[in-house]
Amino acid sequence: MKTFTSAIELQKVLRHDRTNKKSVGYVATMGYLHEGHASLIENARRENDIVVLSIFVNPLQFGPNEDFASYPRDLDRDENLAVNAGVDYLFYPTVDEMYGENPSVKVVVQNRTDCLCGRKRPGHFDGVATVVTKFFNIILPDRAYFGMKDAQQVAIIDGLIQDLNFPIELVTVDIVREEDGLARSSRNVFLLEDERHEAKELYQSLLRAKDAIISGERNPQKVIALVEEHIKARTKGKIDYVEIYQYPELKLLDVLNGNIIIAVAVKFRHARLIDNIIVTL
Ligand code: AMP
Repeated sequence: MKTFTSAIELQKVLRHDRTNKKSVGYVATMGYLHEGHASLIENARRENDIVVLSIFVNPLQFGPNEDFASYPRDLDRDENLAVNAGVDYLFYPTVDEMYGENPSVKVVVQNRTDCLCGRKRPGHFDGVATVVTKFFNIILPDRAYFGMKDAQQVAIIDGLIQDLNFPIELVTVDIVREEDGLARSSRNVFLLEDERHEAKELYQSLLRAKDAIISGERNPQKVIALVEEHIKARTKGKIDYVEIYQYPELKLLDVLNGNIIIAVAVKFRHARLIDNIIVTL
């Protein structure tokens, strides 16, 4: 595996690979890698000649009171996991390399942002779309791999690829979970011991919602109430949202049908966790 900090150096090598007809798969991350990231990399490994992984904690997608400064970082550990999962090129730029002094352009997302994390984290998806556009332009991948853990992000990147005409195939990868069901996340290290134990209830609440829907419940408000009640009764976390939409359109439904996402965000003392489940009727 080769590590790059310069976009131009990475582009030179990739240009050479493309001339040799190599296909390129790309995985975007903020590092502190875990099995969820490994699953994206392994999928990319299977389907492409070259796998590029970026690790970049993108300041543009963090709000002023969010955890940009404290976000976990450990390059040595990440390099080991990346090599083992099959990465060819690790791109690890500085903030200065990505944005320079005073950038003139940013990408603004105008659809699918008025709900879920888009509503709770204003500007977040503009930051995501801007950095992903830049990575797409630097790497020019054939395929880009994104996890369903961030389902709203997948819906937005899908729109980005279509609207800005990127000739890139979006590949989505299922959520990888701990044994007790907690969705793997770099932020899980911030959970206190009792919170870590309670955090499994997020997924349990989603499974309960799914069961209720499969058993015939079609009223979204009733399903939301069930999830909220489950989380409140079993954790000390503060619910940021519990919402249900048509997926990937993220449109409200009066009566549940079709492809549905049930998504939750819960704030623990030092970590805000998100999770979701898709149910198809
Ligand atoms: P992050 O480093 O948290 O920005 O995540 C980078 C990519 O990994 C995103 O596409 C995430 O959706 C994906 N990802 C993060 N956690 C998981 C997980 N538990 N299962 C599957 N994909 C994940």
